Amino acid sequence: MAPKATVKKKQKKAKPPLEAASVKGVADILPKDGDWWRDINDTGRHLSSLYDFHFMETPLLEHAELFTPSVGDSPANFRKLYRLTTEEGEEAALRADLSAPILRSYIEHHLGYYASPLKVYHFGSVARQEKLDNGKRCEVHQWGFDVVGDNDAVYDMQVILAAMEFLKLLKFQNLRLKINTMGCKVCRPNYREKLKAYYRKQAVCEDCKENLEQFPLRLFNCEKETCVPLKKDAPIILDHLCQACNNHFKSVLELVEDNGVLYEPNPYFVREKEYYNRSIFEIYSGEYPHALAGGGRYDYLSEMLFGRAIPGVGIALGLDRIVEQLKVHNVPLHHREKPRVFFIAVGERAKKLSVRLMNQLRMSNIGVVEALGKKTLKAQMKFGEKVDAPLALLFGQKEAFENSIIIRDMKSGAQETVMLDKLVEETKKRLK
Ligand SMILES: [Zn+2]
Ligand SMILES: [Zn+2]
Repeated sequence: MAPKATVKKKQKKAKPPLEAASVKGVADILPKDGDWWRDINDTGRHLSSLYDFHFMETPLLEHAELFTPSVGDSPANFRKLYRLTTEEGEEAALRADLSAPILRSYIEHHLGYYASPLKVYHFGSVARQEKLDNGKRCEVHQWGFDVVGDNDAVYDMQVILAAMEFLKLLKFQNLRLKINTMGCKVCRPNYREKLKAYYRKQAVCEDCKENLEQFPLRLFNCEKETCVPLKKDAPIILDHLCQACNNHFKSVLELVEDNGVLYEPNPYFVREKEYYNRSIFEIYSGEYPHALAGGGRYDYLSEMLFGRAIPGVGIALGLDRIVEQLKVHNVPLHHREKPRVFFIAVGERAKKLSVRLMNQLRMSNIGVVEALGKKTLKAQMKFGEKVDAPLALLFGQKEAFENSIIIRDMKSGAQETVMLDKLVEETKKRLK
């Protein structure tokens, strides 16, 4: 017999119970909001199939280098990664965006052999450590469309349209596209020099002074009183595009017009990450000040990461914001499947048998709701009234003994007893 550990037990202090609270900056998606999220998922899947985007999912963990400053992200963003070292000693991070992992997978699994270009949709969360002011979250949910392996403007337009139609199906109104180009390796360096030369002569704020030499495009994002008025005389990239970038942007804008998309070219709209090139875009709705979707072309990302030039373009919808807006405006949900029968069982024997009966119904495509945990008929009935099912099935001790069940029409109140072996058949008849 093993010695008793009573002495040890006595010395151990009782641990205080764990506080039931999530980590700051992340949040649960609760069942009460579940229908909104499901609606988005259903809409997105339907749309993806129409647009021929195929589902893809990359893991939560990736090599941290996928998101490092060497790929044109800022060192500040790199510091915000959730990093960890795996048991195998690999430097990993929680995925901080979804485009880099898709490129990684594209190369790793030779996806270009199977689809040229590769058109994928994906959804999930991305994480970065953020200062938690203004309701900012560390984890946000995105739905993305990406096209990898082709730099034609028709693909820029297809991801824009997919996101636009997605938002339209979710009843967002007055959608408009904010769009600009970031040029390319040929024309952007020259433009950056012009921009630097201009800003060096201006009295900019301290932050802008710091950014000026390395990230001159960021000066357009400064909201300080000293800097905002300086924008209007600054050189804009449209005047400095090379022929190829000019043609590409022109093609995108022609497609935007062809498709009746309301758009605002904005020469001061820039993306921080250096790997973006050519068109970048965001989608807004009505008066809501934040973008509901954003993306752009990232033809250099693959080269920066893997030394292989593979063009790509993508857009991501910010699902947390979208759900928040759907709730604020109380947008009616799409088709929502209602439960078709409410199952009531009273008594131990009936309750036990009811599990098999409910399963029979469910496997015959009849949705079943129950409240078997409530002991009395009255309590179950009370719950059933809220369920909004056309039929209730009443299975009591008498019925369990006689191998029968009562089918009750919730609207008329009419009820009939049927034998259990006819349950599925009789239920289906009444649901027609
Ligand atoms: Zn160019
Ligand atoms: Zn400034």
